[in-house]
Amino acid sequence: MEIINRMEQEMQALKSAGNLRTLPPLLHESKNIIVKGKTMLNLSSNDYLGLSTNMELKERFLKDITPERFFPTSSSSRLLTGNFSIYDELEQTLAKLFGTEEALIFNSGYHANTGILPAVSDAQTLILADKLVHASLIDGIRLSSAHCIRYRHNDMGQVERLVHENHLAYREIIIVTESIFSMNGDAANLNALVKLKYQYDNVLLYVDEAHAFGVRGANGLGYAEEENCIHDIDFLVGTFGKAIASVGAFVVCKRIIKAYLVNRMRTFIFTTALPPLNIAWTLFIVEQLKEWQSQREHLKLISKELKAALILKGYKCPSISHIIPMIVGANEATILQAEALQQHGFYALPVRPPTVPAGTSRIRFSLMAALSADEINQLIQSIQ
Ligand code: PMP
Repeated sequence: MEIINRMEQEMQALKSAGNLRTLPPLLHESKNIIVKGKTMLNLSSNDYLGLSTNMELKERFLKDITPERFFPTSSSSRLLTGNFSIYDELEQTLAKLFGTEEALIFNSGYHANTGILPAVSDAQTLILADKLVHASLIDGIRLSSAHCIRYRHNDMGQVERLVHENHLAYREIIIVTESIFSMNGDAANLNALVKLKYQYDNVLLYVDEAHAFGVRGANGLGYAEEENCIHDIDFLVGTFGKAIASVGAFVVCKRIIKAYLVNRMRTFIFTTALPPLNIAWTLFIVEQLKEWQSQREHLKLISKELKAALILKGYKCPSISHIIPMIVGANEATILQAEALQQHGFYALPVRPPTVPAGTSRIRFSLMAALSADEINQLIQSIQ
């Protein structure tokens, strides 16, 4: 059949280019990962606070779970019969923590980012999106009928120019960015974006805090908390699958925006809500978020050490966070570096185009607070 032939040819082409992806068979053992019998320190996890392996935490949570209180499914969309009260509890907790009118929970960051923009925009909307925003945001933009321009990564001069040139031609402009970028570990200039927004009356800000929620800010609320601009962001999105060691996502926003999304957002309406069990675990974690400041400080410290060492070894590294790319450049050299690190017991993965721009292949270290300073020093010594 034609379609099968085409698939086979494409897979062959990917294989020849060294870009064929397969699912790796993995075992997890605390902060280690075991691949084909080899135990390696996991340097590619999004469990930034190290909560997923915290036994005391899990025991405390499970103590209250009896068969009567074990809800492994919501069995429905929240608009039908799936709206267990634990959802409202988590949303109220988030809104209170952020000091916003409302919060709304989604099944994943992917659902959030592919659903919000198509719901709130139309052909009279212009979306300005950073060149490096996550695939889920790009897909959300594609699903929308808005016009979109991608601006050069963090190029505030270009964003200012684009807003100035276009604000009269559109009903509204939505600027879309991540706060801490997933591949560079660098940060958006949130304060400059906020300042720009207030120069116009039809500019809104959409900020994806997937890699900052739980990790940054005095209460772990994210980079906008650190930059003191939570209330200047119209759509502040966070996810639970990373530092929170759970699953799902949320937006904190005005009451009218939540009500609108509940009526218009297809990836919210047409899907079975997450199991109440997961929501209960997320709530349990979120309620304790402010207490993990020493983990956040430790993560900052080991991240600084690794970045400084990479720069000393001659690598470019734009990071200001716990996501630390070691930019090697060529594909082959990056793969060799990753293999060498794995042989030394460090599970670090290469990231290549098209995930990152051509010529910037890299090892992406994604650190967890559960890693010790000693382990980071050993890693540094293994880096060529
Ligand atoms: N936004 C960003 C910036 C991400 O990196 C990711 C996942 N890697 C997502 C959204 C999607 O979140 P989720 O995994 O919850 O679907």
